[in-house]
Amino acid sequence: MPMIDPNKIPKLYFYRWLLYWFQPIFKRWFKLRAEGFEIVPKEGPYLIISNHSHKLDQFFINVIIRRPIFNPGSNEYFRNPFKNLFMWAMSGFSRWREFLSPSLRSVRYMRNSIKLGHPLAIYPEGRRNWDGETRHIFLSTAKLIRLLKVPVVAVLSKGNYLAWPRWANKPRKCPITLHFAKPITFDQKNTDEEIIDWIQKAIYNNDNYTKIGKIRGKRPAEGLTRLLWRCPICRKIEGLTEISGKILSCTQCNKEWEVNLYCYMREIGKNSWKPIKEYADLMFKEEEIVPIEHSFVDYLENDEQVFLLSDVISLFREPIYPYHKLKKIDEGNLLLTDKGLLFIKKNDGHSIRYAFDTISWRSTINNFIFLIEYEYYRTFESENTHKDFARFEMLNESCLKWEPFYDFVRNMWMLKGRSM
Ligand SMILES: [Zn+2]
Repeated sequence: MPMIDPNKIPKLYFYRWLLYWFQPIFKRWFKLRAEGFEIVPKEGPYLIISNHSHKLDQFFINVIIRRPIFNPGSNEYFRNPFKNLFMWAMSGFSRWREFLSPSLRSVRYMRNSIKLGHPLAIYPEGRRNWDGETRHIFLSTAKLIRLLKVPVVAVLSKGNYLAWPRWANKPRKCPITLHFAKPITFDQKNTDEEIIDWIQKAIYNNDNYTKIGKIRGKRPAEGLTRLLWRCPICRKIEGLTEISGKILSCTQCNKEWEVNLYCYMREIGKNSWKPIKEYADLMFKEEEIVPIEHSFVDYLENDEQVFLLSDVISLFREPIYPYHKLKKIDEGNLLLTDKGLLFIKKNDGHSIRYAFDTISWRSTINNFIFLIEYEYYRTFESENTHKDFARFEMLNESCLKWEPFYDFVRNMWMLKGRSM
């Protein structure tokens, strides 16, 4: 395995070779169509911004414009030397959380690739969306656009969610259309808000209502309990189970729903099919976030209350970029309390506490991981902090439900003046 310097811009021979041979096959296989790409510059640098649902969105844009594109990817893709080399040769580089990392390393890389005349693509939602609707845009996107000073090309991708919903285990066969907008150049007079507003409109899509041709595939309900983490009728958390990849059934109220490949669902015996997204929007209700009964009272402080409790899951610690080495801490239960997160180890009965004021960020990755970035050490004299990621890997429950619960309880803690 040759050693590579990740800061070096690759020569792109391999990438061009791959593109030359596989472009037509790829285009046909994924039923790709494009509109407006004729006005995209044939040469020189520009910044592509696009909505993100399908794992391969990056390659779809690539295949249409037939040029190598630089793109930031999550740390997951750079963890082993083989993947790392492949990603580097395919002009991928590791993104640290958002576009403007504290080390500015990824920003420097982007500027270098632009200086050499390459296009660059980013996904300002920050991650693949779960339900086919474009999420809100990171404010740092506007800062990046100012910094790079190149034309911006918005690419609105439709059908990409239906072709592979994030929650599903496998892709389906479904036409995907990329709509290229006319390149636009922002200048220093444009405010961040104007830029964000423009992007939000340019890449807004709700794929649940996209008119689509035939979708082929199997097991349309497989993985759907990741998105639908509670019964829409009796409200039991993790109440739904999937039967033979086609039906969702509630273990408490016994109601059943059938699911189709168009991401529509209906209660069995009733006529109306509704987009899965409409069920997903019913999952979270503020008034349902209430203290729950549990058997971990000994681990809590006085009056501390628990709002969500996991099954037995695995905790991994990941030192922050660029080290990437995962270390398994233990298995155990994760508790969301009014003070933060508490992990109770199964083997030695010890606990690890992550107080809200030490947690700077949370997300879900890989469909089964709830991830937080936290300060594990602070030197009070210099105000320097050392940050790590904690990965809570939950294979038998929805990691997605931890996001709205976490946000709501953390917000409650903020509103009470952080005194709890
Ligand atoms: Zn139910």
